[in-house]
Amino acid sequence: MKYNQSNLQARMNELLIEQSQHYLQGAVADYIPALAKVLPSSMGVCISTLDGNVVGAGNYQQRFSIQSISKIFGLVMAMNRVGDSLWKRVNMEPSGQPFNSIIQLEWEKGIPRNPVINAGALLVSDVLASHYSSSKLAFLNFVRSLAGDENIHVNMDVYQSELAHGNRNAALAYLMKCFDNIDADIPEVLSHYFTQCSVEMTCQQLTQSLLFLANKGISPSDNRVILSRKDAHRVNAILSTSGMYDQSGEFAFSVGLPAKSGVGGGIVAIVPNYGVICAWSPPLNNFGNSVVGMQLISKLAEELGLSIF
Ligand code: GLN
Repeated sequence: MKYNQSNLQARMNELLIEQSQHYLQGAVADYIPALAKVLPSSMGVCISTLDGNVVGAGNYQQRFSIQSISKIFGLVMAMNRVGDSLWKRVNMEPSGQPFNSIIQLEWEKGIPRNPVINAGALLVSDVLASHYSSSKLAFLNFVRSLAGDENIHVNMDVYQSELAHGNRNAALAYLMKCFDNIDADIPEVLSHYFTQCSVEMTCQQLTQSLLFLANKGISPSDNRVILSRKDAHRVNAILSTSGMYDQSGEFAFSVGLPAKSGVGGGIVAIVPNYGVICAWSPPLNNFGNSVVGMQLISKLAEELGLSIF
């Protein structure tokens, strides 16, 4: 790699300047009205490495709504809790459909294509709601312990807004319940799902929290086993094939890293045996992925030679 800590910092600052007008090509998500309150020109990027280095630029220490990035944390908790039985209830195939699509779910008898589209994340939320006495608190505690920050919280304004405009997610959950693939009561499942989506974190916190996925399941700072090696492999495989929704193929083609986006404008990318990159810029493209976030990760991955392929 041609960068060291200080010229990487300089390059990241420069990348943000290069991208400074490109956010105008996207649109901030407003189907959850509270998400539209964010400043569209906000922009941050951060890289944390397994050997403990952190380099960040722009608003990388500003909290934002993690939205679907939360699907990674929920999935890890469910895999640890119920083991391989999870894969009887959710598949591991790319969907080729928008993240909140309902069409496929009926054809496939209430079995979601994968755990990182909305239907799959609702299924995972059901697993958590059914196996923890307080799944929302368990989720928060898990994320807080990974990030090493007790102050990570849920934005209740976003939560209420998701609840008030969550008809499509409710429809997905009720459809799965019809097929006997949801155990808990639907309001409880939705409440868990909207809670995890409404958690706010910074780019730096997200990179720190996900280092275990770049390190075969082990947290590099304290050697804690967060996930078995086999399950860490599986999460990265799912993120490579489905983490960017209907743009996952293009992302693998052009960037080549397991990644996950959220409609809050964040994207995380896992670089096995190296570290984690997180970029944030709220305006999204038609797939629900951050326009500038994709550019920032793509350029850094290319210049640092990080592709796994
Ligand atoms: N809370 C959002 C939803 O359910 C999450 C979607 C996303 O980030 N892609 O629609």
